[in-house]
Amino acid sequence: MGDRRMPAEHCTLVRILGESVRPGERRTLDLQVARLYTRTPVEIPVVVQRGPQEGPALLLLAGVHGDEINGIETVRLVMDELKVRPLERGTLIAIPILNVFGFLALRRELPDGRDLNRFFPGSAHGSLASRLAHALVTEVLPAVDVTIDLHSGADQRHNHPHLRYTGGDTRSLALARVFDPPLLLRAAVRPKSIREHLVRQGRAYVLFEGGRARSLDEDAVRVGLRGITRVMEHLGLWKGPSDMARGAVHLSQSKWVRAPMAGIFHPTAENGSHVARGMVLGFITDPYGEQVRHVKSPLEGHILCVNTSPVVNHGDALMHIAYDAP
Ligand SMILES: [Zn+2]
Repeated sequence: MGDRRMPAEHCTLVRILGESVRPGERRTLDLQVARLYTRTPVEIPVVVQRGPQEGPALLLLAGVHGDEINGIETVRLVMDELKVRPLERGTLIAIPILNVFGFLALRRELPDGRDLNRFFPGSAHGSLASRLAHALVTEVLPAVDVTIDLHSGADQRHNHPHLRYTGGDTRSLALARVFDPPLLLRAAVRPKSIREHLVRQGRAYVLFEGGRARSLDEDAVRVGLRGITRVMEHLGLWKGPSDMARGAVHLSQSKWVRAPMAGIFHPTAENGSHVARGMVLGFITDPYGEQVRHVKSPLEGHILCVNTSPVVNHGDALMHIAYDAP
């Protein structure tokens, strides 16, 4: 048998960003979109690792929002693991920070204030957001079969680790089941998001939410890493499975519980926990020691997200409760 290498012309090439990547090869390519107004070129590194055998291509995407750190760390840990656990087959494409522009300033948006995830599939001649979306859509996504997009809660919102998939999309639901998150939320597609683009193309896509922006949450990273590992084993990129599925709690609807008055918010219910209707979720106090108002859950469900801001205005979203409804 021996180690006989196929001549290069017989190898199936994965083409990405105009470059060819051969079986067993690892390359760091650059997605070039624009220069900053300082003329500084901005390159977005795209790491492509191929296994020795043919197989599906998995995209790990993080940093679509420049202030969401948990996904960046999760992708780093997967790449670190590859050093001791090489791919068996297929291709791993890792973009740890898509919105490099936002990451430089630890901001969700691009420098022009636009949310990248509202500009897909983008255009070659549009705004910076539109151009970046277009570059990803035309130069990377054609090589991708399965996408895991990693996010965290915006601002002060702390998301309990959960996975979102698109209702009616059986490919993405199957992928979500393999990922096996603690909570699984069926969510409507946002217009012009990367999810809308990929679902329209019939590609499997799930969105992982965990922790909050501008913070590193070990629990979110651990749950994300476990799910990605399970997907990689399922696709045959790694040998597996390494652990048993625990079974996700399925949720299909969600509702925000809002502040009944302005003041200091003291959450008492644990993020991710199951709550009964009428259960106390926390309380709000006024700074002068005159008022205390309990915040009760209007429905039975699971807490998906908690507002960690200590000071809230009347009507502010406090806790996001998700439940299952036919
Ligand atoms: Zn995000």
